Amino acid sequence: MKTLLAAAVFTLCAAILIGCTDSGISRSSGASDTKEKASENMTVSDDNDLETKNVSFCAVGDNLIHETIYNEADGFLGGYDDGKYDFTPFYSEVKDDIKAFDIAFINQETIVGGYDLGLSGYPVFNSPNEVVSALKETGFDMVNTATNHSLDKGQEGIDNAVSVLDKNSLCHDGVYSDASDMDKIRIIEKNGIKVALVSFTESTNGIELPNDYSLSTFDDEYIKKKISAAKTAADVVLVSAHWGTENSFKENDSQKYYSKYFADCGADIIIGTHPHTIQPIKRITADDGRNVLCAYSLGNFLGGMLSFDNVLSGMVSFDIKEKDNRITVDNVKWTPLVIHFEGDKNNIMDSRKNYKVYKLSDYNDKLSKKHILNGYEGNEISVEHFWEKTKEVINSEFLQ
Ligand SMILES: [Zn+2]
Repeated sequence: MKTLLAAAVFTLCAAILIGCTDSGISRSSGASDTKEKASENMTVSDDNDLETKNVSFCAVGDNLIHETIYNEADGFLGGYDDGKYDFTPFYSEVKDDIKAFDIAFINQETIVGGYDLGLSGYPVFNSPNEVVSALKETGFDMVNTATNHSLDKGQEGIDNAVSVLDKNSLCHDGVYSDASDMDKIRIIEKNGIKVALVSFTESTNGIELPNDYSLSTFDDEYIKKKISAAKTAADVVLVSAHWGTENSFKENDSQKYYSKYFADCGADIIIGTHPHTIQPIKRITADDGRNVLCAYSLGNFLGGMLSFDNVLSGMVSFDIKEKDNRITVDNVKWTPLVIHFEGDKNNIMDSRKNYKVYKLSDYNDKLSKKHILNGYEGNEISVEHFWEKTKEVINSEFLQ
């Protein structure tokens, strides 16, 4: 079945790619004022007249909407259980940082099936539509939707997510409403550089695909053809890989195999998500000699998991430069992030509240002492501990 699906993608790609720009899949607008300002930073080389095009890019990890998170968002707007939610306050401390980049990426871990399908948290999630509008308002442009929770609400959940993401003019890849939707290559064009997003997930939590076209999975032949089609349509191919071992700070053998495979297929950048913990950034050498940046896991951007390991995450950022038809990715930086939340340790399942994402550089021990996980089951929440773990996992060259 998967071979048939891959063949279908291959057959249809040429026609769809030609229509890409015309059909509005290529998104070059929708930037905020801050982003318009950033787009003026096109650099010109000193040594000759050839122009260097530059796109600044950032990526963050899993937006994991637990029940206590959507309950708090419910309280921010109207009355409880009135179907109105506001998720923007959770991201207020990092919004300006995200908006400062030309393109910002996030992994939407939980399916946005919407209120009418019945909201739910762990283990089978369904999140409100307002999650998506909050991502838009916070400054995100690219959204991964291929995760192990993509199928939690079946095709109905997927159809709702696709519709809401489209309505918010977000560039997204991973789940699809029909076969032609699956064949589209999603591109953002910024400062004269076309960046394609192609997403794949290794796991579906054992749930069968409702349709062949529902979700992009780790099928080697399909991956190769999709990346190749993206390479033809864009200047830069960004692969979003949902993979890895949960709660592990190291990449596993499958991640090592697939990072090389994505690179050999033509990926320029690989952004990894899923383990709920941070993992190293590496440079992979593709068979053709290209140097491919791979951030194995960015951790949880927002979520209510109950361990120190799961509330430390990071933003990876870099400049994508194009000169003389050659792409380079440099100025790679890791900005550590923290998920803060408070509540009653004796009723930790239901009382988690005051969720907020902070840059670790803005976090302090007055806040860490109020973190519900501080002292809970041996967790030590402190600025020092977060830095210590970050330095253990992330190479110092990215922490300047
Ligand atoms: Zn996941």
